[in-house]
Amino acid sequence: MTSMDESPYDLRGKRVWVAGHRGMVGSALLRRLEDENCDLQTVPRSEVDLTSQADTANWMRKARPEAVFIAAARVGGISANARYPAEFLVENVLILVNVIKAASELGVEKLMCLGSSCIYPKHAEQPIREEALLTGSLEPTNEAYAIAKIAGMKLASAYAEEYGHRFISVMPTNLYGRNDNFDLDHSHVIPALIRKMHEAKIAHRDSVVVWGTGTPRREFLHVDDLADACVFLMKQYESPKPINIGSGEEIAIGELAFLIADIVDFRGHIVFDTLKPDGAPRKLLDCSRLRALGWSPSIGLRAGIEELYDRWKKTSRSVQGRHDYP
Ligand code: GDP
Repeated sequence: MTSMDESPYDLRGKRVWVAGHRGMVGSALLRRLEDENCDLQTVPRSEVDLTSQADTANWMRKARPEAVFIAAARVGGISANARYPAEFLVENVLILVNVIKAASELGVEKLMCLGSSCIYPKHAEQPIREEALLTGSLEPTNEAYAIAKIAGMKLASAYAEEYGHRFISVMPTNLYGRNDNFDLDHSHVIPALIRKMHEAKIAHRDSVVVWGTGTPRREFLHVDDLADACVFLMKQYESPKPINIGSGEEIAIGELAFLIADIVDFRGHIVFDTLKPDGAPRKLLDCSRLRALGWSPSIGLRAGIEELYDRWKKTSRSVQGRHDYP
């Protein structure tokens, strides 16, 4: 059994595998880990299918990673989650079980499982503390994804409790940033609104549709801040209890729409389509545990969205329509 007062885990010189390195989170981790002098490992999806137990275990046996970040996941916004519950549940459960089980069998020294704030009950008390997990029913639009992530995190902590493995889980809030998915059927709200407003501006359309009532509130964290927090926790955190990663920067979707319109310089109307789902009313994470360890974010919401918009404008021809699953 490990304890909180152990010396920090040293990534230097270690074989570190980022599973899901092509996704938004995995690619941010790769960029951040370049500063850690470790031996970075990645494997393309065409070579190893992480939903296959045999593929995953065989590759890990050969590569012998010493530390593992599980950023591989089937991800998507409110629409994709609600439309493909079977795929979100099965693919995420398989990836998590295959990697975590093989990591245990192969004696991986340290492993991080990435969850999500949607695993908390729909009506959890705000800001949401880690203890709220499994105290109420989930938001139906992302229940399948949440159940898979809960299973993975419980498995990581079961291995930690039962075998003393240094397997930890983190729960990031809503993320955005470089390599975000701009496909409107699959994207989250920030890339969706950037794209909709940019395209409306270019086409001189005078309105843009925003889903739902505009009243739900979301906390957003830039993926580069998330990667920094993950590396920090990989070194510093040893408890099998999951830990929240948030920014504390919360905004109503309606206000976010006006902010993005301002950044994009879209001057038309914003129309709320109340027939589309709102999802969870609010999911602000309580990050006092993370703050107490000494980490805080550095990228503000406006600056982060501006940077994403600039980057996307430069590459939008190759990004539009891409299904950016890790
Ligand atoms: P969620 O946190 O799982 O609900 O993830 P999303 O980022 O997909 O959605 C956040 C909120 O933004 C929800 O209330 C959506 O209804 C709202 N929203 C408004 N317009 C859009 C849009 O064009 N795309 C997406 N994905 N969400 C939108």
